[in-house]
Amino acid sequence: MIQHKDLDDPKTREVIIIGGGIAGLSAAIYLGRAQRDTLVIDSGHSMAKWEPVVENYLGFPKGVGGEKLLRNGRRQAKRYEVRFADDEIKAVSSKKSVFVLEGKRRNYRTNRLLLATGIFHLPPEIPGVKDCLGHSMFFCKDCDGYRVRGKRIAIIGSNNEAVEYALGMLLYSARVIVATNGKKPRWDKRHARWLAEYEIPVERKEIRDVDHRKRKIHALDFVGGNCVKIDYLFTTRGDIFHNQLAKKLGAKLDSDGQIKVDQCMRTSVPRLYAAGCVTPANCQMIIAAGQGAAAAQAINRDLFEESLATHSLQRFREAQLAEEKTVPELSKTNRNKKGRKK
Ligand SMILES: Cc1cc2nc3c(=O)[nH]c(=O)nc-3n(C[C@H](O)[C@H](O)[C@H](O)COP(=O)(O)OP(=O)(O)OC[C@H]3O[C@@H](n4cnc5c(N)ncnc54)[C@H](O)[C@@H]3O)c2cc1C
Repeated sequence: MIQHKDLDDPKTREVIIIGGGIAGLSAAIYLGRAQRDTLVIDSGHSMAKWEPVVENYLGFPKGVGGEKLLRNGRRQAKRYEVRFADDEIKAVSSKKSVFVLEGKRRNYRTNRLLLATGIFHLPPEIPGVKDCLGHSMFFCKDCDGYRVRGKRIAIIGSNNEAVEYALGMLLYSARVIVATNGKKPRWDKRHARWLAEYEIPVERKEIRDVDHRKRKIHALDFVGGNCVKIDYLFTTRGDIFHNQLAKKLGAKLDSDGQIKVDQCMRTSVPRLYAAGCVTPANCQMIIAAGQGAAAAQAINRDLFEESLATHSLQRFREAQLAEEKTVPELSKTNRNKKGRKK
């Protein structure tokens, strides 16, 4: 069977997805199944790798490892002839209707570009807690609040967000403290009132050390000798959005640096799409997967409309008519007039 991509310029892909995390893989599966010539370029740092047991992804009642989800997604996309390149894109430009991508390993060209580059959660500036990431140190109460029910929880932060985090965590546990790690509180009066009203303790001293063994946090040691026993730590230091490529192409960003998209994941730049945590979406795996699918559907539809406008579908049909059987073969029916088998 000939494929329409056989007639295209082999040096220019129909679609390139930068980012092989949850959003990128979901888009890749849809685009592969839509017969689109698709390449996923990935530098291998999906945040999903940090979650040993994802408990809120539909269809896995016992949970599923983030790494496994990524591995399965890649395998699934490969079934539909999606190609993968392990590379990191450092620069991008746009010439006429083609995006030119400069990778660490090589360069690429594509008609449609999907940015699924994700974000990076800044870990707290406390020595030695990196080992506990995803095990007893978390960033997201929607992902991990449920698993820490009834435990001793510290929220690291000194702004309004940290206070709201602590208030939100009360639904999961009665034992919640805020630790500003030596920073002067920047929360406003309203948030200060809430802390007092809900009787949430605040420790303002700098954290000297985090007592942890085998990725399990046991206590926070404060400068001056105070020690608070805890089981889990949440941090609200902020996120870095991987938006440099979008910026370079002139796509609009919001005040946090997230790439602005419409309902179909189109950015403000024609032929450029974005999906997942790099957009203003709530940063959850199932939402990233849904956005990836929505972007893929829009890309597929836009390519279809373009193929009608440029007559490339007509040229493909001419090739089909020349090279393939295009009329279903007729065979004698073995049914009588009433539709029953003879
Ligand atoms: C500790 C932790 C626990 C979490 N737990 C949960 C949970 O339980 N449930 C849940 O729903 N969510 C959870 N999340 C959030 C979840 O990981 C994200 O929602 C999800 O990974 C977002 O998917 P994404 O595709 O937008 O980004 P990612 O999955 O992070 O993928 C982005 C990909 O783009 C690649 N990339 C970036 N820039 C480039 C470039 N220039 N060139 C090439 N490749 C590039 C990166 O290497 C990466 O592979 C957790 C996150 C963390 C940090």
